[in-house]
Amino acid sequence: MPLHVLPQSRRRFLHTTLVGGTALLAGQASGAAEPSSPRPWWALLSDTHIAADPATSARGVTMFDNLNRVVDQVLAEATPPEGVIINGDCAYLKGLPADYATLSKALQRLSDAGLAVHMNMGNHDDRGPFYNAFKSQQPEHPLVEGKHVSVLESPTANLFLVDSLKEVNVVTGELGEPQLAWLIEALDAHSDKPAIVIGHHNLQFLPEGSQQRVSGLVDSRALLDALQARPHVQAYVFGHTHNWNVRRSEGQPYLINLPPTAYVFNESRPSGWVRAELGEDELTLELRALDATHAEHNKPQKLQYTLASSPG
Ligand SMILES: [Zn+2]
Repeated sequence: MPLHVLPQSRRRFLHTTLVGGTALLAGQASGAAEPSSPRPWWALLSDTHIAADPATSARGVTMFDNLNRVVDQVLAEATPPEGVIINGDCAYLKGLPADYATLSKALQRLSDAGLAVHMNMGNHDDRGPFYNAFKSQQPEHPLVEGKHVSVLESPTANLFLVDSLKEVNVVTGELGEPQLAWLIEALDAHSDKPAIVIGHHNLQFLPEGSQQRVSGLVDSRALLDALQARPHVQAYVFGHTHNWNVRRSEGQPYLINLPPTAYVFNESRPSGWVRAELGEDELTLELRALDATHAEHNKPQKLQYTLASSPG
C-alpha cells in the first residue's frame, strides 16, 4: 500500500492555535518567562537514505533503524507538528522503487498519526519512482515542469520547498532558470510573512575558473541573489553535507544545514532531526540528536528575524 500523505490539516491548525492560546495565557498568569513551546512547529528531517532492505547499513548506521527512532521522537513530542519535511536523499543512492516502498513503511506511523509528510528531492532520489510510491505527492498541475516544488503556508511563516535534483546519483545540484523564476514569483506573492526556502543542496561558491567539481548548487549565486533581494526571506534550509550547523553572514538569510537522519561523514557531528518553531519574529531550532549525550542535543537556537518584512 502506498503511503497516503495527508494534506495540511485545517483541524490541526485550529488545534495548535487553541493549544497555543491556552498555554500562552497560562504562561502569563504564572509569570513564566518561557512556557514550554506550544507554538506551531515543524519536524525537519534530511538525508534518510533508506534502502530497499531495511537491514542495510552504511558507515556503521542502519538507516531504517535511525529513521524509526526519529519517528518515535517526533511522535513523542508534547504537541504534534504542523507537518514533517524530509529535505532530500530520501532514498539510499539511486531512488529505486524498492527504496521508496521501504521508506513508505517507515513513514506509515506518521501518516497514521494524521501528520502530513512532505519530501524534497535530493541527488539520490528519482522523481518517477518517488511519485509512483507516493502518489499523493504528485501534483496534478506541477508548479514547475519536471521539478517537485511546493509552498506550505503556516500561520506565522511560509515555507517554499525547492527541487535541486539535477541527475540521479550525481552529486551536483541545480535549480535551473524556470524554477528560479517560479521561486521569485512565489516569494514576491507571499511577501506579507517571513519566508523560509528549503532545498537539498548547499550553496557553494568556487573561485572563477576553478576546475573543482561543484558538489553543491551550481546556481548558488542566482539563488542567493534572489533571496538577499527579498528582505522577508529569513532562511535557506538545506541538507546534503550531513553536517548540522547554522550560519549567517551580514545581510544574508540564515543558512541552516540540517543533520542527517542517516549517517554522518564526520563522527563528531550529530545525526537526528530538528524541531523548528515558527514564531512571529523568530525561528527557534532545537536539534534532536539520536545520541542524547551529544553536546548540541536539545539546545535551542533562537534566530531573530532581523531583516524587515517588506509590506504587502
Ligand atoms: Zn545525503
